Amino acid sequence: MSFRYVFAKYLKDPQSCPGLLFEDENVLIIEDMYPKSLVHYLIIPKENTSKTPQEAFKDEQFIAKIQKYVDKASEMVLSKWSASYETPISKQNIIVCCHSVPSLANLHIHVMTDDLCSNRLKNKKHYNSFATPFAIKWTEFPLAADDPRHSPEHCNLLLKGDLIHNGINYRSSFRRLRQELDRKRDTIVTNRKRRAAQDEESGRKKANTLTSPPH
Ligand SMILES: [Zn+2]
Repeated sequence: MSFRYVFAKYLKDPQSCPGLLFEDENVLIIEDMYPKSLVHYLIIPKENTSKTPQEAFKDEQFIAKIQKYVDKASEMVLSKWSASYETPISKQNIIVCCHSVPSLANLHIHVMTDDLCSNRLKNKKHYNSFATPFAIKWTEFPLAADDPRHSPEHCNLLLKGDLIHNGINYRSSFRRLRQELDRKRDTIVTNRKRRAAQDEESGRKKANTLTSPPH
């Protein structure tokens, strides 16, 4: 089976799915194996698995059904982040989206932090697939009938646009953008290390007071 259909295997046998976080009769929630942000999960609905997002989420009832899993996965992303990193984030920093031309065949929704600075983000296409309207935001469904993103040709052009990050245009220089993303990642990760070191230090102090002999 080609990698394009890898989720079909997980739907058939969820226990075989690496990074499985949650499962019920309607969805799987898993860790993205190639995370593009520091926390990046996927919701894989069991229903409508062969439909494109544009097609599947035409149906308001289906949207309503999946909404509670979007909320749940967003909470999971937030709590994973706060357990891992000191840098504060809020719900506004969560991206919930589907790619307009998904690279994997089975229907899935990305739920992730908006840092886009994971080491796995390796090229212009990776970046633009989340940073441009190529990513259809969850709140945009159902797409209007005249939305250009019903056309795969239009969507693929969006991947070729300039690289824009925090209002700065990096044109086609993925190398320069990646340097900026590395700086951002280092700041977030170093912050965590400092916090962990402090916790360790205060833990040691506490242990010392506990073990020091009574005067
Ligand atoms: Zn995807």
